[in-house]
Amino acid sequence: MENAAGSDSFDAGSLSAVPAFVDHSAAAAAILPGRGEPLPLNARKPAWLRAKIPGGEAYQQTRDLIKVSRLHTVCESAQCPNLGECWSRKTATIMILGNVCTRGCGFCAVLTGRPTELDLDEPRRVAEALKVMNLRHAVITSVARDELKDGGASVWAATIRAVRKECPQTSIEVLIPDFRGRWHDLDTVLDAGPDILNHNMETVPRLHKIVRPQARYDRTLELLSRAGERGFVTKTGLMLGIGEDQQEIEQTLRDIVSVGVEILTLGQYLRPSAQHLPIHRWVEPAEFERWKEFGLSIGYKVVESGPLVRSSYHADEQSDGLVHGHGRE
Ligand code: SF4
Repeated sequence: MENAAGSDSFDAGSLSAVPAFVDHSAAAAAILPGRGEPLPLNARKPAWLRAKIPGGEAYQQTRDLIKVSRLHTVCESAQCPNLGECWSRKTATIMILGNVCTRGCGFCAVLTGRPTELDLDEPRRVAEALKVMNLRHAVITSVARDELKDGGASVWAATIRAVRKECPQTSIEVLIPDFRGRWHDLDTVLDAGPDILNHNMETVPRLHKIVRPQARYDRTLELLSRAGERGFVTKTGLMLGIGEDQQEIEQTLRDIVSVGVEILTLGQYLRPSAQHLPIHRWVEPAEFERWKEFGLSIGYKVVESGPLVRSSYHADEQSDGLVHGHGRE
């Protein structure tokens, strides 16, 4: 997930934004010969993937706050299955820099297109909304804005500083794009002092060309490594069930821990639409448990692993004992 925010000043009508109508499903079939047939589109979800239905007073309050603050959330834009549970706990992941992403990843439900607006009032509204939410730990993400000179890094920095000022008791986790490997833009974000730097690997190296075609496996490793070298707690996540095999998962977990990543999330890939990549298999809860044990055995400090786990799922619990000013400058 590499995503961001919008507002009333964000004129959707003026955008050339369109949903990603690329048939990622056909691309997958061409690239994955001999790796088994994917599940059909109408495959019935196993019982362990049934999530809480949104509703209730706390859910409604979260919904109203997001609306009145004119913000986007990745919970909605990425069709997260945990929305009912998280919003009922009065937690949400705000997505900054608009709701139109310049990348077209094969798994992601966020709109792909060419954004034309930059909402410079957004950092203030994010900070005010998070102040009302009164979270001990907030996760903020963004869409990729590859058309901007700095990839949106200056808005990221302004957002982190505004939240720090308004919510001094809240630890801040940022789930950022890769800024196309322009490391001075990464430094702009890090200079603002988030507590946890999260950037998702999403999948194993062989599948990058269909899962996240504009990203690079090595570049993601380098980003995480650079943030760790500057003293930040780093975090990443993978989706399972999108076509990878067991050896590939194991090697990827080893590659990631070798660059100092401390927090890992593993969850089941779910297909947002017929145009997105197919699901290859349902990963059973017992397998997620085995990967958790494996991850802890090779050096991760925290592994959140389960069918419905997403980057920001129970992120407050994952950060316990790891932030405490670590990474602040
Ligand atoms: S897991 Fe993250 S993206 Fe999904 S609903 Fe919860 S906070 Fe939102």
